[in-house]
Amino acid sequence: MAKAKRDIHRKVLDYQHKITTWLVKEYDAVFVEDLNVQSMLRADGNGRNKQDAAWRQFITLLEYKGDVYGTHVVQVEAAGTTKECAVCGVESSKSIWVREHSCPSCGFETDRDANAAMNVLQRGFSELGLGWPESTPVETVTATDTADLQQMSASHVIETGSLST
Ligand SMILES: [Zn+2]
Repeated sequence: MAKAKRDIHRKVLDYQHKITTWLVKEYDAVFVEDLNVQSMLRADGNGRNKQDAAWRQFITLLEYKGDVYGTHVVQVEAAGTTKECAVCGVESSKSIWVREHSCPSCGFETDRDANAAMNVLQRGFSELGLGWPESTPVETVTATDTADLQQMSASHVIETGSLST
């Protein structure tokens, strides 16, 4: 039992090493959501803690390698990234099972995670003191989505979501 657990931890670490190395080599800037300390303190049950620990480990690796490769690694405020419309900024609440973002104000429609990723991206750019890069093609992925990671082309900015499975 203990051995099986160690094997899983090692696999997660291997996977995180691969992704973080790839990210800092491929991109000039990587934006990640900061851990939500409030919800972490409120969290009941072990699952949430494990997920946060994995995310913390991922960010630690990413920041270390960002230093080595000269890649900006920026943690941004995570609150509201799902609710906020990436186009007009109007907030609308959605339940966890609603996978689409459909803005009641401007009509912008996209995937829930894509909308959140765009918000993280905008927050990251403003942290770096840059405006929204109108002319720069930008791709967004979540860290767990290896299929998407493999399809990524030559964009220079990436945002990662969460490592939840
Ligand atoms: Zn909108």
